[in-house]
Amino acid sequence: MQFVQTTTPGGFQAAPSAGIYIHIPFCRQACVYCNFHFSTSLKQKPELVAALSEELVLRKNYLQGVPYETIYFGGGTPSLLTADELLRLFDTIQEHYPLGTLKEVTLEANPDDLDRNYLQALKHTPVNRLSIGVQSFFDKDLLYMKRAHNAQQADYAIKAAQDAGFDNLTIDLIYGTPGLTDSEWKHNLHKVEYLAIPHFSAYALTVEERTALHHAIGKQKAAPVDPEQAAGQFGILVEQAAAMGYDHYEISNLAKPGRYAVHNTNYWMGNPYLGIGPSAHSFNGKQRSWNVANNAQYISSIERDRRPLGETEDLTPIQHLNEYIMTSLRTMWGCDLSKIAAEWSQEYADQVAECAGQFRKKGWLTNTDNKLLLTPDGKLFADRIASELFVEE
Ligand code: SF4
Repeated sequence: MQFVQTTTPGGFQAAPSAGIYIHIPFCRQACVYCNFHFSTSLKQKPELVAALSEELVLRKNYLQGVPYETIYFGGGTPSLLTADELLRLFDTIQEHYPLGTLKEVTLEANPDDLDRNYLQALKHTPVNRLSIGVQSFFDKDLLYMKRAHNAQQADYAIKAAQDAGFDNLTIDLIYGTPGLTDSEWKHNLHKVEYLAIPHFSAYALTVEERTALHHAIGKQKAAPVDPEQAAGQFGILVEQAAAMGYDHYEISNLAKPGRYAVHNTNYWMGNPYLGIGPSAHSFNGKQRSWNVANNAQYISSIERDRRPLGETEDLTPIQHLNEYIMTSLRTMWGCDLSKIAAEWSQEYADQVAECAGQFRKKGWLTNTDNKLLLTPDGKLFADRIASELFVEE
């Protein structure tokens, strides 16, 4: 496969490009806060890898004519795949997909998988970016979250990845964890800069229903999450990231200038993507669809040459517009009123601009060159502001 070195996707792109997302639904153990689709039994891994390869063939025409720029292995824990299993999938992609403009191939990896042998093996695959699930550099937070790794392993994994030649790294961090003090959160952020990591994602710990954390808090077996603590630590994130020279280019994503994630940025730009694997979502520009979130059903459907479809959703033009408002407002490129006028209608653009007035008065939004941008204070209320700006059917 040929690669263009990852640099910047810039602002909104004129020509759409697409990404392939491949879901690896296995984890060594369940983190308490997680509501993604995964199994902690690895018994079906060989059959599932075979099924992923089959689905890639089955759906090779899903986005006819749109060039693929990125491949993203998410999960679950993609670093549970061996390099040979990854190569099998790459061979299938190579055979059936036009990849002339491929820029970025990301593998999500947990620190406990990134030993030197595995990293060396990965260097012989097309993976050119690692997304490492660090979450915190403090053992007590990792224990609270029931992560499979400890803080020392996180440090080791990052350095080993860099030594192996993976300088295109991103790590995930979580704030708002009970017991995480502000100074510990600042320490975690400093580590990103100290370890010369060009990109990181920072998420507030959220308590989703039907998770072990939700259950444990309900039974008073785990400390509850304090939204005020999370809000304060988000403020620290905004300030400290700017001081460290990271662009806060999406509410949960920060990068050194030009080191933005191409795959995820394409999602936020509304570009199409093909999702492969159990629970994976796909979007062709008009319709969203997602695969069944069950490994056994997924495998048996693929064995019958049928896409294991869960559901589909046709987007109306207004739903599409509201998605654009929601995602664009979360980015540093903002919500472009001229684009709304050109691609939907001037009436909708005027409506959004008028509704934005109340947030401009509060100091939460600015309107620069006909683009609505969140201020640092407004970032705290991004989803609420976006939903107020929504156009009604
Ligand atoms: S490793 Fe990731 S996908 Fe697996 S349980 Fe933990 S958070 Fe969820």
